[in-house]
Amino acid sequence: MVTGDINLSKFLSKRTRFMRASEIRELLKWATEPGVISFGGGMPDPRYFPYDDIREITDYVIREKGDKAFQYTKTEGVDELKEEILKFMSRRGIKVDNINQILVTSGSQQALEILARIFMDPGDLVVVELPTYLAAIQAFRVYKPTFIGIPMDDNGMRTDILEEKLKKIYSEGKSIKLVYTVPTCQNPAGITMSNDRRKHLLELASKYDFLIIEDDPYSYFLFEDIDYRSIKSMDTEGRVIYLSTFSKILIPGLRLGWAAASEEIIAKMALAKQAIDLCSPAFCQYIAAEALKRGVVDKQLPILKKVYKHKRDLMLEALEKYFPEGCRWTRPVGGMFIFVYLPEKIDTTKMLEKAKEKKVAYVPGRSFFVDGSGWNTMRLNFTFVVEDKIEEGVRRLASIIKEELGA
Ligand SMILES: *Cc1c(COP(=O)(O)O)cnc(C)c1O
Repeated sequence: MVTGDINLSKFLSKRTRFMRASEIRELLKWATEPGVISFGGGMPDPRYFPYDDIREITDYVIREKGDKAFQYTKTEGVDELKEEILKFMSRRGIKVDNINQILVTSGSQQALEILARIFMDPGDLVVVELPTYLAAIQAFRVYKPTFIGIPMDDNGMRTDILEEKLKKIYSEGKSIKLVYTVPTCQNPAGITMSNDRRKHLLELASKYDFLIIEDDPYSYFLFEDIDYRSIKSMDTEGRVIYLSTFSKILIPGLRLGWAAASEEIIAKMALAKQAIDLCSPAFCQYIAAEALKRGVVDKQLPILKKVYKHKRDLMLEALEKYFPEGCRWTRPVGGMFIFVYLPEKIDTTKMLEKAKEKKVAYVPGRSFFVDGSGWNTMRLNFTFVVEDKIEEGVRRLASIIKEELGA
């Protein structure tokens, strides 16, 4: 039998047509080459991973809990871990009644996939921010919802515009199912939603009867003392599905996240999860539980705040110093990204060719916009790159932009 002659497309499900490789990954294959300063990607700084703590914990888990850690576990997650997550969230004011309102997931990414699976039918209306988290778009798109993009300003999602849209949609006899938001230190925009907007969003959810997905990987290590409340903490009707993850507060390599929502929603999510992977790795779950219990996560958070705040400041200073007139950017209070709006004549996807030559990588913003806009935007990650390369990277970018502008 000759291999390689199979017409694979004949076999593929229609669903696969809606699976798109992240444009980012394709475009940025060169970003890891030596000499390239990369503001692409969205990775934590590996120099600050808690290597020794995790080594000790792993040893302990194998010695003391190996029989359970090496075994299958409950789909909902290891109780011990859920107890620790419950305590961890409650210190941030996010209270759930009991561990039945928590589902441990294989990263927040799996929670997004599960939510799409249980809530989205083709054509369902799903609201996202403009721009929004690319991996959420990817997870949702497979289930063919119709996206409604809502613009943001410095205070986050324009809930007034959402309200107008809602009125119109409901007057046409249609309804919105879900609003997906990253309200705190948004990826990619680096914007934090004001408390008033959060309240307004909840009021709208109640009035127009929809659910909210609050994706919150960053609020545990804000760089500044800002007063904000998680949407979940204000939710009295069980409309908010809160997601967070160990990827940014500990290590992404554990591939663990969690969802907190009403017992009814968590039960449905668990049912879907069972078919996907039976359970998240018990081994990782015992490690994460121990990391919370021993205060390893609490020890990490001030380190992340300090290191990332410094890097953010270096990037903001460099942007100020080198970027030409007509560019504007966000000033994030946490998270990992600064979002830049360039003059409209610039197409950042096309400009990437020149960036490749000059050995500096960024993510063109276009793929974060469900409405096809954002061609003149770029996302800059400030967490991965080492401190003394930030200024040089921004200087290289600025020279490319100036070239594009013909200056
Ligand atoms: C980093 C990030 C996540 C984390 O995803 P994991 O699958 O848990 O690694 C989720 N949502 C947003 C918006 C992020 O930026």
